[in-house]
Amino acid sequence: ASGAAVRLDLDGRPIQPLTICMIGAGGFIGSHLCEKLMFETQHSVLAVDVYDDKIRHLLEPENGHPWSSRIQFHRLNIKHDSRLEGLIKMSDLVINLAAICTPADYNTRPLDTIYSNFIDALPVVKYCSESNKRLIHFSTCEVYGKTIGCFLPKDHPLKNEPEFYMLKENETPCIFGSIDKQRWSYACAKQLIERLIYAEGAENGLQFSIVRPFNWIGPRMDFIPGIDGPSEGVPRVLACFSNNLLRHEPLKLVDGGLSQRTFVYIKDAIEAVHLMIENPERANGHIFNVGNPNNEVTVRQLAEMMTKIYTKVSGEPSLEVPTVDVTSQEFYGEGYDDSDKRIPDMTIINEQLGWNPKTSLWDLLESTLTYQHKTYAEAIKRATAKPAAT
Ligand code: NAD
Ligand code: UDP
Repeated sequence: ASGAAVRLDLDGRPIQPLTICMIGAGGFIGSHLCEKLMFETQHSVLAVDVYDDKIRHLLEPENGHPWSSRIQFHRLNIKHDSRLEGLIKMSDLVINLAAICTPADYNTRPLDTIYSNFIDALPVVKYCSESNKRLIHFSTCEVYGKTIGCFLPKDHPLKNEPEFYMLKENETPCIFGSIDKQRWSYACAKQLIERLIYAEGAENGLQFSIVRPFNWIGPRMDFIPGIDGPSEGVPRVLACFSNNLLRHEPLKLVDGGLSQRTFVYIKDAIEAVHLMIENPERANGHIFNVGNPNNEVTVRQLAEMMTKIYTKVSGEPSLEVPTVDVTSQEFYGEGYDDSDKRIPDMTIINEQLGWNPKTSLWDLLESTLTYQHKTYAEAIKRATAKPAAT
């Protein structure tokens, strides 16, 4: 490329341009990864998804983007499309993000959830193994399930010992609820595909990395019900709370909002994936936690923080009653269950790739809620001001 400085990998070697088949490229994480690859690298992307709304700003060639020859959208459903194999064969690296990954679906659409996260990923793994293509597969922190500490009585001192809550890729067991708690259909399907990929590595030499995201959040995550998604749809917590704030409704706390989560800014997390892409020798054969252990809050604290920040960025007064309690049965229906606490151990990603998250929870919520307000506030006003039909 004319004048572009040669970029080096972590071991000082020049980075060769890759062709990357990115499946699920039109989703939240995919859209940020596509941006990163277009804005900051010379790699090419074969972007596979059924939707392209979230990457349309990268695709429209009439704008003459400098990267337009490096990104190509392929609208296909990997459940049943013979073109997938050809696209994988044309690539140097496959990144699989495609999944049903919204908790409201796990207990209400368990069959779709299991098929999407296990069965539909099988051909991807098989084609990679057969054609010797490197695979970066997206799993989830949810494969850890519940912490060992959650089985101790409420104020037991051992709860504070890291070995009772810290989640380590190569040590911590995976603890799921009973089969009638269909919440765990997702985690179980993801666990089995991880085991299959690991076995393909061990028996057939597949070069793989597995990513376990810990609540990555930021702009373009999910949808705002009734605006760019179904009015009855239930997205993940960031979009649920954003929707409540935009509509001046109290935020709903499921079962008291006592569960704990660590949230990482999508832009920090994408940096970790970027390092995996460009440092195969350091990344292959590893499972990576990617999260921010310093950003832990209860869901209740998250609600309070988002309320404060939204008041600041929107200039609108906050609600007198900012939250309401709902039971998980009311909110999600039969078969819901929850992860109690998720703190990622960062040793492996730190040693292999030198990655650390940077953005505090306050800062990442401030930039994300600024985006939500800019993107949706007017549309919500229009939608709620509609005169009632006569
Ligand atoms: P997302 O729903 O925004 O993206 C998934 C994309 O895959 C969507 O655009 C969807 O249309 C596409 N897709 C699904 N099935 C498909 C099919 N059959 N054919 C073609 N495309 C299909 O979700 P996301 O947050 O970007 O998550 C991406 C991956 O990361 C998922 O595997 C998810 O399980 C995992 N993950 C994400 C998080 C997080 O914090 N965001 C946490 C844990 C795991
Ligand atoms: N949650 C909540 N209110 C909402 C949406 C979610 O209290 O409106 C809770 C949910 O029960 C869970 C946490 O927020 O404890 C995170 O939910 P999310 O859907 O983001 O996914 P998870 O982290 O469970 O995979």
